[in-house]
Amino acid sequence: MAKVYYDHDIQEEVLRGKKVAIVGYGSQGHAHAQNLRDSGYDVVIGLREGNSWNQAVQDGFQVKSVKEASEEADLIMVLLPDEKQTKVYNEEIKPGLYPGKALVFAHGFNIHFHQIVPPENVDVFLVAPKGPGHLVRRTYTENAGVPALIAVHQDVTGDARDLAFAYAKAIGGSRAGVLETTFKEETETDLFGEQAVLCGGLTSLVKAGFETLTEAGYQPEVAYFECLHEMKLIVDLMYEDGLKGMRYSISDTAQWGDFVSGPRVVNEETKERMKELLKEIQTGQFAKAWILENQANRPVFNAINESEKQHPIEVVGEELRKLMPFVSSKKEQKEAVANA
Ligand code: NDP
Ligand code: MG
Ligand code: MG
Repeated sequence: MAKVYYDHDIQEEVLRGKKVAIVGYGSQGHAHAQNLRDSGYDVVIGLREGNSWNQAVQDGFQVKSVKEASEEADLIMVLLPDEKQTKVYNEEIKPGLYPGKALVFAHGFNIHFHQIVPPENVDVFLVAPKGPGHLVRRTYTENAGVPALIAVHQDVTGDARDLAFAYAKAIGGSRAGVLETTFKEETETDLFGEQAVLCGGLTSLVKAGFETLTEAGYQPEVAYFECLHEMKLIVDLMYEDGLKGMRYSISDTAQWGDFVSGPRVVNEETKERMKELLKEIQTGQFAKAWILENQANRPVFNAINESEKQHPIEVVGEELRKLMPFVSSKKEQKEAVANA
Protein backbone atom coordinates (compact mmCIF):
# COMPACT_ATOMS: atom_id res chain seq x y z
CA MET A 1 0.00 0.00 0.00
CA ALA A 2 1.06 3.58 -0.71
CA LYS A 3 2.36 5.48 2.32
CA VAL A 4 -0.10 8.00 3.68
CA TYR A 5 1.39 10.95 5.63
CA TYR A 6 -0.38 12.56 8.58
CA ASP A 7 0.33 15.70 10.65
CA HIS A 8 2.79 13.95 12.96
CA ASP A 9 4.91 12.76 9.97
CA ILE A 10 5.51 16.30 8.70
CA GLN A 11 7.97 19.00 9.85
CA GLU A 12 6.87 22.57 9.18
CA GLU A 13 10.11 24.45 9.92
CA VAL A 14 11.16 24.57 6.28
CA LEU A 15 8.08 26.70 5.42
CA ARG A 16 8.12 28.89 8.54
CA GLY A 17 9.17 32.50 7.90
CA LYS A 18 8.60 32.20 4.15
CA LYS A 19 6.25 34.60 2.40
CA VAL A 20 3.54 32.85 0.38
CA ALA A 21 1.79 34.51 -2.59
CA ILE A 22 -1.61 33.03 -3.37
CA VAL A 23 -2.35 33.97 -6.98
CA GLY A 24 -6.14 33.86 -7.50
CA TYR A 25 -8.79 34.00 -4.80
CA GLY A 26 -11.50 31.69 -6.13
CA SER A 27 -12.50 28.23 -4.99
CA GLN A 28 -9.03 27.00 -4.03
CA GLY A 29 -7.41 30.43 -3.53
CA HIS A 30 -9.60 31.66 -0.69
CA ALA A 31 -9.27 28.32 1.12
CA HIS A 32 -5.48 28.05 0.85
CA ALA A 33 -5.03 31.70 1.86
CA GLN A 34 -7.28 31.50 4.91
CA ASN A 35 -5.96 28.12 6.07
CA LEU A 36 -2.33 29.24 5.70
CA ARG A 37 -3.05 32.43 7.64
CA ASP A 38 -4.76 30.48 10.42
CA SER A 39 -1.74 28.14 10.49
CA GLY A 40 0.45 31.18 11.17
CA TYR A 41 1.93 31.88 7.73
CA ASP A 42 2.57 35.22 6.04
CA VAL A 43 0.26 35.43 3.00
CA VAL A 44 -0.09 38.00 0.21
CA ILE A 45 -2.78 37.67 -2.46
CA GLY A 46 -1.98 38.30 -6.15
CA LEU A 47 -4.96 39.37 -8.28
CA ARG A 48 -6.38 41.72 -10.88
CA GLU A 49 -9.01 44.23 -9.79
CA GLY A 50 -12.51 42.78 -9.62
CA ASN A 51 -14.78 40.63 -7.46
CA SER A 52 -12.08 38.39 -6.05
CA TRP A 53 -9.91 41.40 -5.23
CA ASN A 54 -12.72 43.02 -3.24
CA GLN A 55 -13.49 39.76 -1.45
CA ALA A 56 -9.85 39.21 -0.44
CA VAL A 57 -9.62 42.77 0.91
CA GLN A 58 -12.85 42.25 2.81
CA ASP A 59 -11.39 39.05 4.28
CA GLY A 60 -8.52 41.12 5.68
CA PHE A 61 -5.74 40.14 3.28
CA GLN A 62 -3.00 42.23 1.79
CA VAL A 63 -3.87 42.23 -1.94
CA LYS A 64 -1.49 43.25 -4.71
CA SER A 65 -1.10 42.81 -8.47
CA VAL A 66 0.07 39.34 -9.48
CA LYS A 67 3.38 40.88 -10.48
CA GLU A 68 4.01 42.59 -7.14
CA ALA A 69 2.87 39.62 -5.08
CA SER A 70 5.07 37.22 -7.08
CA GLU A 71 8.01 39.55 -6.78
CA GLU A 72 7.93 39.73 -2.98
CA ALA A 73 7.01 36.12 -2.18
CA ASP A 74 9.33 33.15 -1.61
CA LEU A 75 6.67 30.67 -2.66
CA ILE A 76 4.12 31.40 -5.40
CA MET A 77 1.01 29.22 -5.45
CA VAL A 78 -0.83 29.49 -8.79
CA LEU A 79 -4.58 29.17 -8.19
CA LEU A 80 -5.86 30.69 -11.40
CA PRO A 81 -8.13 28.73 -13.76
CA ASP A 82 -5.86 26.25 -15.59
CA GLU A 83 -6.65 27.70 -19.01
CA LYS A 84 -5.56 31.21 -17.91
CA GLN A 85 -2.35 30.27 -16.14
CA THR A 86 0.07 30.32 -19.09
CA LYS A 87 -0.60 33.95 -20.04
CA VAL A 88 -0.54 35.26 -16.47
CA TYR A 89 2.58 33.21 -15.72
CA ASN A 90 4.50 34.58 -18.72
CA GLU A 91 3.46 38.18 -18.23
CA GLU A 92 3.24 38.62 -14.47
CA ILE A 93 4.74 35.73 -12.49
CA LYS A 94 7.91 34.87 -14.42
CA PRO A 95 9.52 38.34 -14.05
CA GLY A 96 9.58 37.94 -10.24
CA LEU A 97 10.44 34.24 -10.16
CA TYR A 98 13.99 34.68 -8.91
CA PRO A 99 16.43 31.75 -8.43
CA GLY A 100 15.68 29.59 -5.38
CA LYS A 101 11.99 30.51 -5.19
CA ALA A 102 9.21 27.93 -5.37
CA LEU A 103 6.50 27.81 -8.05
CA VAL A 104 3.55 25.74 -6.86
CA PHE A 105 0.37 24.37 -8.42
CA ALA A 106 -2.82 22.63 -7.27
CA HIS A 107 -3.13 20.67 -10.51
CA GLY A 108 -0.39 19.47 -12.84
CA PHE A 109 -1.98 20.27 -16.22
CA ASN A 110 0.18 23.18 -17.39
CA ILE A 111 3.50 21.70 -16.28
CA HIS A 112 2.73 18.18 -17.48
CA PHE A 113 1.56 19.36 -20.91
CA HIS A 114 4.43 21.90 -21.17
CA GLN A 115 2.21 24.99 -21.31
CA ILE A 116 4.35 26.49 -18.56
CA VAL A 117 8.10 25.81 -18.69
CA PRO A 118 9.69 27.30 -15.55
CA PRO A 119 13.36 28.26 -15.36
CA GLU A 120 15.66 25.49 -14.10
CA ASN A 121 16.75 27.44 -11.00
CA VAL A 122 13.45 27.31 -9.06
CA ASP A 123 11.61 24.59 -7.16
CA VAL A 124 8.42 23.39 -8.83
CA PHE A 125 5.93 21.20 -6.99
CA LEU A 126 2.24 20.63 -6.53
CA VAL A 127 -0.11 20.35 -3.59
CA ALA A 128 -3.47 19.20 -4.89
CA PRO A 129 -6.38 18.89 -2.46
CA LYS A 130 -8.72 16.15 -3.61
CA GLY A 131 -11.85 18.23 -3.06
CA PRO A 132 -13.44 21.60 -3.81
CA GLY A 133 -12.05 24.74 -2.14
CA HIS A 134 -15.03 25.45 0.05
CA LEU A 135 -14.59 22.04 1.64
CA VAL A 136 -10.85 22.65 2.04
CA ARG A 137 -11.79 25.71 4.09
CA ARG A 138 -14.79 24.33 5.96
CA THR A 139 -13.13 21.10 7.05
CA TYR A 140 -10.07 23.07 8.24
CA THR A 141 -12.27 25.19 10.54
CA GLU A 142 -13.75 21.93 11.87
CA ASN A 143 -10.29 20.59 12.76
CA ALA A 144 -10.43 18.15 9.87
CA GLY A 145 -9.14 18.33 6.30
CA VAL A 146 -9.42 17.25 2.68
CA PRO A 147 -6.84 14.64 1.53
CA ALA A 148 -4.13 16.01 -0.73
CA LEU A 149 -1.56 14.83 -3.26
CA ILE A 150 1.94 16.25 -3.45
CA ALA A 151 4.50 15.90 -6.25
CA VAL A 152 7.85 17.42 -7.10
CA HIS A 153 8.72 18.43 -10.66
CA GLN A 154 11.98 20.31 -9.94
CA ASP A 155 14.05 20.47 -6.78
CA VAL A 156 16.91 22.97 -6.83
CA THR A 157 17.01 23.92 -3.16
CA GLY A 158 16.87 20.35 -1.86
CA ASP A 159 13.77 21.40 0.10
CA ALA A 160 11.04 21.06 -2.52
CA ARG A 161 9.56 17.83 -1.18
CA ASP A 162 9.63 19.03 2.44
CA LEU A 163 8.07 22.34 1.40
CA ALA A 164 5.28 20.49 -0.39
CA PHE A 165 4.52 18.39 2.68
CA ALA A 166 4.67 21.45 4.96
CA TYR A 167 2.28 23.35 2.69
CA ALA A 168 -0.10 20.39 2.59
CA LYS A 169 -0.03 20.33 6.39
CA ALA A 170 -0.62 24.10 6.60
CA ILE A 171 -3.84 23.86 4.57
CA GLY A 172 -5.11 20.91 6.61
CA GLY A 173 -4.38 18.16 4.07
CA SER A 174 -2.35 15.93 6.39
CA ARG A 175 -5.19 15.82 8.93
CA ALA A 176 -6.95 13.62 6.33
CA GLY A 177 -3.87 12.14 4.69
CA VAL A 178 -1.28 13.17 2.09
CA LEU A 179 -0.06 10.90 -0.70
CA GLU A 180 3.02 11.38 -2.84
CA THR A 181 2.57 11.19 -6.60
CA THR A 182 4.01 12.60 -9.84
CA PHE A 183 2.75 15.46 -12.02
CA LYS A 184 1.93 12.85 -14.67
CA GLU A 185 -0.12 10.66 -12.34
CA GLU A 186 -1.96 13.58 -10.69
CA THR A 187 -2.82 15.22 -14.02
CA GLU A 188 -3.90 12.09 -15.87
CA THR A 189 -5.95 10.57 -13.04
CA ASP A 190 -7.62 13.91 -12.23
CA LEU A 191 -8.69 14.37 -15.86
CA PHE A 192 -9.79 10.76 -16.19
CA GLY A 193 -11.77 10.85 -12.94
CA GLU A 194 -13.69 13.97 -13.84
CA GLN A 195 -14.39 12.82 -17.39
CA ALA A 196 -15.24 9.16 -17.00
CA VAL A 197 -16.68 8.92 -13.50
CA LEU A 198 -17.21 11.97 -11.29
CA CYS A 199 -18.59 14.53 -13.74
CA GLY A 200 -18.97 13.20 -17.29
CA GLY A 201 -19.86 9.62 -16.45
CA LEU A 202 -22.25 10.68 -13.71
CA THR A 203 -24.17 13.39 -15.57
CA SER A 204 -24.56 11.14 -18.61
CA LEU A 205 -25.80 8.26 -16.47
CA VAL A 206 -28.33 10.49 -14.68
CA LYS A 207 -29.62 12.01 -17.92
CA ALA A 208 -29.90 8.64 -19.68
CA GLY A 209 -31.94 7.24 -16.79
CA PHE A 210 -34.19 10.30 -16.65
CA GLU A 211 -34.75 10.26 -20.42
CA THR A 212 -35.55 6.53 -20.45
CA LEU A 213 -38.26 6.97 -17.82
CA THR A 214 -39.82 10.15 -19.22
CA GLU A 215 -39.77 8.86 -22.82
CA ALA A 216 -41.69 5.83 -21.53
CA GLY A 217 -44.38 8.20 -20.17
CA TYR A 218 -43.46 8.40 -16.49
CA GLN A 219 -43.75 11.79 -14.75
CA PRO A 220 -40.60 13.93 -14.93
CA GLU A 221 -40.90 14.76 -11.22
CA VAL A 222 -40.79 11.07 -10.30
CA ALA A 223 -37.92 10.49 -12.72
CA TYR A 224 -35.99 13.42 -11.21
CA PHE A 225 -36.23 12.08 -7.68
CA GLU A 226 -35.35 8.57 -8.80
CA CYS A 227 -32.38 9.41 -11.04
CA LEU A 228 -30.87 12.57 -9.55
CA HIS A 229 -32.05 13.47 -6.06
CA GLU A 230 -31.55 9.99 -4.59
CA MET A 231 -28.01 9.88 -5.98
CA LYS A 232 -26.68 11.88 -3.05
CA LEU A 233 -28.19 9.57 -0.49
CA ILE A 234 -26.55 6.56 -2.13
CA VAL A 235 -23.20 8.31 -2.61
CA ASP A 236 -23.15 9.35 1.06
CA LEU A 237 -23.47 5.71 2.06
CA MET A 238 -20.68 4.69 -0.31
CA TYR A 239 -18.50 7.52 1.06
CA GLU A 240 -19.03 6.36 4.64
CA ASP A 241 -18.65 2.59 4.24
CA GLY A 242 -17.83 1.70 0.64
CA LEU A 243 -19.98 -0.31 -1.74
CA LYS A 244 -20.58 -2.90 0.96
CA GLY A 245 -21.94 -0.26 3.36
CA MET A 246 -24.28 1.12 0.73
CA ARG A 247 -25.52 -2.36 -0.15
CA TYR A 248 -26.16 -3.07 3.52
CA SER A 249 -28.60 -0.16 3.67
CA ILE A 250 -30.56 -0.76 0.47
CA SER A 251 -33.23 -3.46 0.13
CA ASP A 252 -32.28 -6.94 -1.05
CA THR A 253 -34.35 -6.31 -4.17
CA ALA A 254 -32.26 -3.21 -4.90
CA GLN A 255 -29.09 -5.18 -4.21
CA TRP A 256 -30.12 -8.01 -6.57
CA GLY A 257 -30.88 -5.39 -9.26
CA ASP A 258 -27.49 -3.81 -8.57
CA PHE A 259 -25.73 -7.17 -9.08
CA VAL A 260 -27.51 -8.38 -12.21
CA SER A 261 -28.46 -5.15 -14.02
CA GLY A 262 -25.64 -2.68 -13.21
CA PRO A 263 -23.04 -4.55 -15.29
CA ARG A 264 -25.47 -4.55 -18.26
CA VAL A 265 -25.53 -0.71 -18.21
CA VAL A 266 -21.87 -0.11 -17.51
CA ASN A 267 -20.38 -3.05 -19.41
CA GLU A 268 -17.23 -4.11 -21.24
CA GLU A 269 -18.08 -1.72 -24.04
CA THR A 270 -18.32 1.18 -21.56
CA LYS A 271 -14.92 0.19 -20.23
CA GLU A 272 -13.52 0.22 -23.76
CA ARG A 273 -14.79 3.81 -24.09
CA MET A 274 -13.10 4.65 -20.77
CA LYS A 275 -9.84 3.25 -22.10
CA GLU A 276 -10.21 5.50 -25.16
CA LEU A 277 -10.65 8.54 -22.92
CA LEU A 278 -7.59 7.57 -20.91
CA LYS A 279 -5.53 7.14 -24.08
CA GLU A 280 -6.60 10.60 -25.32
CA ILE A 281 -5.58 12.07 -21.95
CA GLN A 282 -2.22 10.28 -21.99
CA THR A 283 -1.39 11.28 -25.57
CA GLY A 284 -2.20 14.95 -24.95
CA GLN A 285 -5.08 14.84 -27.45
CA PHE A 286 -7.62 15.96 -24.83
CA ALA A 287 -5.32 18.74 -23.58
CA LYS A 288 -4.75 19.99 -27.12
CA ALA A 289 -8.48 20.16 -27.89
CA TRP A 290 -9.16 22.07 -24.64
CA ILE A 291 -6.27 24.50 -25.19
CA LEU A 292 -7.40 25.21 -28.78
CA GLU A 293 -11.03 25.54 -27.64
CA ASN A 294 -9.93 28.28 -25.23
CA GLN A 295 -7.84 30.01 -27.87
CA ALA A 296 -10.97 30.14 -30.06
CA ASN A 297 -12.99 31.66 -27.19
CA ARG A 298 -14.85 28.44 -26.38
CA PRO A 299 -17.46 28.11 -29.16
CA VAL A 300 -18.17 24.42 -28.47
CA PHE A 301 -18.05 24.78 -24.68
CA ASN A 302 -20.54 27.67 -24.79
CA ALA A 303 -22.92 25.94 -27.21
CA ILE A 304 -23.09 22.76 -25.11
CA ASN A 305 -23.33 24.75 -21.89
CA GLU A 306 -26.40 26.61 -23.19
CA SER A 307 -28.19 23.53 -24.49
CA GLU A 308 -27.49 21.56 -21.30
CA LYS A 309 -29.24 24.27 -19.26
CA GLN A 310 -32.42 23.59 -21.30
CA HIS A 311 -32.45 19.84 -20.59
CA PRO A 312 -35.82 18.77 -19.09
CA ILE A 313 -34.09 17.38 -15.99
CA GLU A 314 -32.78 20.91 -15.25
CA VAL A 315 -36.19 22.49 -15.85
CA VAL A 316 -38.06 20.12 -13.53
CA GLY A 317 -35.22 20.09 -11.02
CA GLU A 318 -35.23 23.85 -10.68
CA GLU A 319 -38.90 23.78 -9.69
CA LEU A 320 -38.55 20.84 -7.30
CA ARG A 321 -35.54 22.28 -5.49
CA LYS A 322 -37.44 25.50 -4.73
CA LEU A 323 -39.53 23.37 -2.42
CA MET A 324 -36.43 21.85 -0.79
CA PRO A 325 -34.38 24.88 0.28
CA PHE A 326 -32.15 22.64 2.38
CA VAL A 327 -30.62 21.06 -0.71
CA SER A 328 -29.51 24.05 -2.76
CA SER A 329 -28.11 26.22 0.01
CA LYS A 330 -25.02 24.00 0.13
CA LYS A 331 -22.52 25.95 -1.88
CA GLU A 332 -19.71 23.42 -1.78
CA GLN A 333 -21.90 20.72 -3.28
CA LYS A 334 -22.73 22.84 -6.31
CA GLU A 335 -19.10 23.64 -6.56
CA ALA A 336 -18.02 20.03 -6.30
CA VAL A 337 -19.99 19.26 -9.43
CA ALA A 338 -18.67 22.29 -11.28
CA ASN A 339 -15.02 21.86 -10.41
CA ALA A 340 -14.15 18.27 -9.65
P1 NDP B 1 -11.52 29.66 -9.72
O1 NDP B 1 -12.07 29.80 -11.09
O2 NDP B 1 -12.45 29.32 -8.61
O3 NDP B 1 -10.73 30.98 -9.29
C1 NDP B 1 -9.87 31.61 -10.14
C2 NDP B 1 -9.31 32.88 -9.50
O4 NDP B 1 -8.36 33.43 -10.41
C3 NDP B 1 -10.34 33.98 -9.24
O5 NDP B 1 -10.05 34.58 -8.01
C4 NDP B 1 -10.12 34.95 -10.38
O6 NDP B 1 -10.41 36.28 -10.02
C5 NDP B 1 -8.63 34.81 -10.58
N1 NDP B 1 -8.21 35.23 -11.91
C6 NDP B 1 -8.70 34.82 -13.11
N2 NDP B 1 -8.03 35.41 -14.12
C7 NDP B 1 -7.10 36.21 -13.53
C8 NDP B 1 -6.09 37.08 -14.04
N3 NDP B 1 -5.94 37.25 -15.36
N4 NDP B 1 -5.31 37.73 -13.16
C9 NDP B 1 -5.47 37.58 -11.83
N5 NDP B 1 -6.41 36.76 -11.29
C10 NDP B 1 -7.22 36.09 -12.12
O7 NDP B 1 -10.34 28.56 -9.82
P2 NDP B 1 -10.19 27.19 -8.96
O8 NDP B 1 -9.91 27.54 -7.56
O9 NDP B 1 -11.30 26.25 -9.29
O10 NDP B 1 -8.88 26.55 -9.64
C11 NDP B 1 -7.58 26.99 -9.30
C12 NDP B 1 -6.61 25.82 -9.48
O11 NDP B 1 -6.94 24.82 -8.52
C13 NDP B 1 -6.67 25.14 -10.82
O12 NDP B 1 -5.36 24.73 -11.16
C14 NDP B 1 -7.54 23.91 -10.58
O13 NDP B 1 -7.28 22.83 -11.44
C15 NDP B 1 -7.10 23.57 -9.16
N6 NDP B 1 -8.02 22.75 -8.40
C16 NDP B 1 -9.34 23.11 -8.30
C17 NDP B 1 -10.22 22.36 -7.56
C18 NDP B 1 -11.62 22.77 -7.37
O14 NDP B 1 -12.40 21.97 -6.82
N7 NDP B 1 -12.05 23.97 -7.75
C19 NDP B 1 -9.78 21.11 -6.89
C20 NDP B 1 -8.35 20.88 -6.93
C21 NDP B 1 -7.54 21.66 -7.70
P3 NDP B 1 -11.56 37.19 -10.73
O15 NDP B 1 -12.67 37.32 -9.70
O16 NDP B 1 -10.86 38.48 -10.99
O17 NDP B 1 -11.99 36.48 -11.98
MG1 MG C 1 -36.00 2.96 -4.96
MG1 MG D 1 -9.67 18.70 -12.23
